Amino acid sequence: GKIQFHPERYTEMYLHWMENIRDWCISRQLWWGHQIPAWYCMDCHPENFDESGKLLRRESPIVQKTAPDKCPRCGSTRLVRDPDVLDTWFSSAIWPHTVLGWPRQTDELRLFYPTDVLITAQEILYLWVARMVMTGLYFRGDIPFREVYIHATVLNKEGKRMSKSLGTGIDPLELIDKYGADALRWSLLQQAGMQQSVRFYEERVVSARNFANKVWNATRFVLMNLEGADLDALRVMGAQPADALDRWILSRLQRTIQTIEDALGRYCFDDGANALYEFIWSEVCDWYIEAVKPRLHDPARRAQTQAMLLYLFDRLLRLLHPYMPHMTQELWQAIGATDAEPSLGRARFPVADPALIDPDAEAEVAQVFEGIRAIRNLRAEVKITPGVAIPAVWVNPTDDASAERLQRHAATIGHLAWCQEVRFGQPTERALMNPADGAEVYLPIAGLVDVARERERLQKELAKLEAEIKQVQARLRNPQFVERAKPEVVQETRAQERDLLDRHARLKARLEQLQE
Ligand SMILES: [Zn+2]
Repeated sequence: GKIQFHPERYTEMYLHWMENIRDWCISRQLWWGHQIPAWYCMDCHPENFDESGKLLRRESPIVQKTAPDKCPRCGSTRLVRDPDVLDTWFSSAIWPHTVLGWPRQTDELRLFYPTDVLITAQEILYLWVARMVMTGLYFRGDIPFREVYIHATVLNKEGKRMSKSLGTGIDPLELIDKYGADALRWSLLQQAGMQQSVRFYEERVVSARNFANKVWNATRFVLMNLEGADLDALRVMGAQPADALDRWILSRLQRTIQTIEDALGRYCFDDGANALYEFIWSEVCDWYIEAVKPRLHDPARRAQTQAMLLYLFDRLLRLLHPYMPHMTQELWQAIGATDAEPSLGRARFPVADPALIDPDAEAEVAQVFEGIRAIRNLRAEVKITPGVAIPAVWVNPTDDASAERLQRHAATIGHLAWCQEVRFGQPTERALMNPADGAEVYLPIAGLVDVARERERLQKELAKLEAEIKQVQARLRNPQFVERAKPEVVQETRAQERDLLDRHARLKARLEQLQE
C-alpha cells in the first residue's frame, strides 16, 4: 500500500477492517459538532413535524452547502434545519485537509498535503485513521499521510490502564516538578519502540534524572576547561585526532549517529536512546574524558584536546536534543551556538561520516580498556579504593602486536588504573595476575596486601566453595534426581557445577600466587 504502518502488523488489521466495512450512522444527537446541512419544509412536508414544530421524520430533505432562502419546491420560507450534528469521527475524518484551508485551494494545502507521518494510539486506528484515509482519497484524491506510527500505551507498574476515575494514573506535572521535564520525556522515549504497552516505573525517571545530571556535569566540565579559549578558533580547528583514543571516540560517534538515524527512521526511539546512553555515559564520560584529562594540562596538547571536546559535545548535544530538549538547549547555548546557528532547535542534526569509522582504533582502544579493567578488578579484589594511587603494575603482552599497542598507551593505562608506573614484562616481584586481551596484568602485592590474612581469607572461601561443589555433585550423582527432575533443572544444576569449578580454579590460582 501507499501508507506504511509502524509496527507493521497494523497493516493487516487495517486492511481487514477496510475489507469488512459496515454502514456508518453519521448523525448524532449532541449539542456540539458540525450541524448536518439538511433543511425541511414545514409547508410541503408537514408530516415531518409534530404539533409543536419539532422534527420527527426526515422525508425529502433539502441538502445544500449554504442555508436556502426558500423551499425550492413550494417557495415557503418556513424551513427548519436538522438539529443533529455529524458524528465526531466524521468531522475528525476531514481534519487533515480542512486544517490546511480546504475547500479553498490554499498554499498550505498544496505544500503540506499529504503530510509525512501521523502519530496516534491503537484504539482509534479504525475510528480515526481509516476514516481520514477514506475522506482524503474522496475529497483530495490522495492519501492524507505516508506513514502511521502507533505508539505504545503507558500502563501503571501493575500493568493496569491508567485512569483518573480508578486512581491508577500518575500526574505528569508532579513528576516534572520532582525530576524535570527532560527526565520524564527520556524515561518514556527510552521505552518507546515497537512494543504496544509499556509499564511506568518511577525508578526509570530517577535514572533518567541521573543521566541528565551526568550530561550536565560533563558539559560543565568541558566548559570549565574551555574558559578563556577562543571558541571560534577551536571550531575552525575542529576534530583533529592526535592518537588512537581520538580516532576511537570519533569512530564511536559516527556509529552512534548511524544507530540513531536508523532507529528514528524506524520509530524505534528506544534503540536511539540506548545507543546515546551507552555512548555518552560510558564511552564519553567514563572513558574518553577521564583519559584526556592529563592532556588538558599539557600545553602542547591542550588546544587540540579542547577542540576535540568542543566538537564532541556540540555533536552529542545535537543528538540528545530530541530526547532532552530543554537541558540540551541550555547547554548548547554555551557550547555550539553561533551567528549562523543561534538555536539548537533549528541547528542541523549530525550526519554520520563513514570515513571516520576506524575499526583499527576501536580494536586498539578496546584492548587497552580491557587491560585497564583487568587491573581495576585486581585492585577491587584486594580492596584498594578506586582513585587511590598504587606504585606499579606489570603488563606482560602475549604477542608483539599487543606489546606495541599496550606500550603506546602506557600513560593512559597508568592514569586510568591509578598506577604510578606501568612496567612491561614478567614481574620480578610477588604479584596477583589477571588475564586480559593479549596480555597478563600483574598487581605487585608488597605493601598493599597482608599476605597471611589474604591467604586465610582465600582458604576459607575455598573451603566454602568445595562444600558447595560436593553438594551439587552429590545431587548430580543421584540417579533419582537426574532421572526424575525436570531436564531444565538438571541442566541448571550442571551449569552451577561448571560455574563453581571455574571459581574454584581461579581461587586456587590466586592462592598459588600468594605462596612464598
Ligand atoms: Zn416546501
